Amino acid sequence: MNCRICRAKTQPIISFGRMPQANGFLAKRNDPEHFFTLTIVFCPQCFMVQLAETLEAKIMFGDDYHFISSTSTVMLKHFKKIATDIWQMISKKKQPFVIELGSNDGIMLKHLAKRKVLHLGVEPAANVANLARKNGVNVLESFFSLQTAEKIRKHHGPADVICGSNVFCHIENLSSVFAGIRLLLKNDGVAFFEDPYLLDIIRKTSFDQMYDEHVYYFSGLAVQNLAKQHGLYLTDMRHQPVHGGSMRYYLSNNPLSPVSKRVRYWLSQERKLQLHHLRGFSHFQQKVDKISFNLKVNLLRLKKRGYQIVGYGATSKSTTILNYAKIGPHLLRYICDTTPTKIGTFSPGTHIPIKAHTVFVKDNPPYTLLLAWNHQKEIFAKEARYRKRGGKFITYFPKITVQ
Ligand SMILES: [Zn+2]
Repeated sequence: MNCRICRAKTQPIISFGRMPQANGFLAKRNDPEHFFTLTIVFCPQCFMVQLAETLEAKIMFGDDYHFISSTSTVMLKHFKKIATDIWQMISKKKQPFVIELGSNDGIMLKHLAKRKVLHLGVEPAANVANLARKNGVNVLESFFSLQTAEKIRKHHGPADVICGSNVFCHIENLSSVFAGIRLLLKNDGVAFFEDPYLLDIIRKTSFDQMYDEHVYYFSGLAVQNLAKQHGLYLTDMRHQPVHGGSMRYYLSNNPLSPVSKRVRYWLSQERKLQLHHLRGFSHFQQKVDKISFNLKVNLLRLKKRGYQIVGYGATSKSTTILNYAKIGPHLLRYICDTTPTKIGTFSPGTHIPIKAHTVFVKDNPPYTLLLAWNHQKEIFAKEARYRKRGGKFITYFPKITVQ
């Protein structure tokens, strides 16, 4: 396939074969499912790592989007901090205007709404957009594109800040988004976005970031090339501990904007790992296969010894590893979760029942596979009692550990 950004011919990095929609939890075990071939490719010209094939956006982000940001306390804190960072950028400006792409349930913008900051969330999923409105947040129910940017500029004027968290990597037509930002951003404005960082994914082999919703796996090198195409400049990169390692990229449309030392640092780290060359990905498939194989063998061993194993956290990102390693209800009796809409459903592809967290507390299983591994610290604190009673969590990145 050709690169979505620069049209050059791409090269494959890894293939997982047929995979279901990562967030396609089934109401009934035999409900029809959407499958696609999950292959990740690298562009040797602009260095963008991306999906070879995607599911249609309408299937992925329909009216009911299951990922509600405000269910995690770590994320609540993280988004509050983003709001504080934005407040520091704009507090001295006269009538600043802030736009957030993928504003979800208003987890971030509600803090600025409280401060009476002029703002607009752009969010295609109706259920979370309505939750945001209940939080006092203004929402335009739409996908973001150049056309949406034109509409916003016409009605509200240009923006001081445009931001998005875990949303840019989901948007296939990223060129239209960057063109929209260029159009909508004031000359002294700042755009920033954060997404899972390719360098962390490669270093930790955290391939569970790879699923249908994540079209792009960003590096600073690729973002810089993409920005240049649209007259935008990469001015800063700030590493974030969330989602197993994310990067926040800052963009300006002013060529004279100062560039932070951090940009040079991270770009040199990326070059050291050879993320600008296919060589940087040469052992990735091998490492992925090793983790998947070892995980399954370890679970089988525990099962043979008569232990009951359950999963913890019915996350989208668990879909790839469960399906790729072929871990089904024969190994995990159920996956516990706290999201009300997921309880009573079945995991995509593997059909493991999803049960309430209260079931896990009552069962007190001896072994629990931590599928929401990126929230390990928070979960270990919450489940201190379980661990004290001898319950063990199994984690798998960068290697399999039982603790
Ligand atoms: Zn390219």
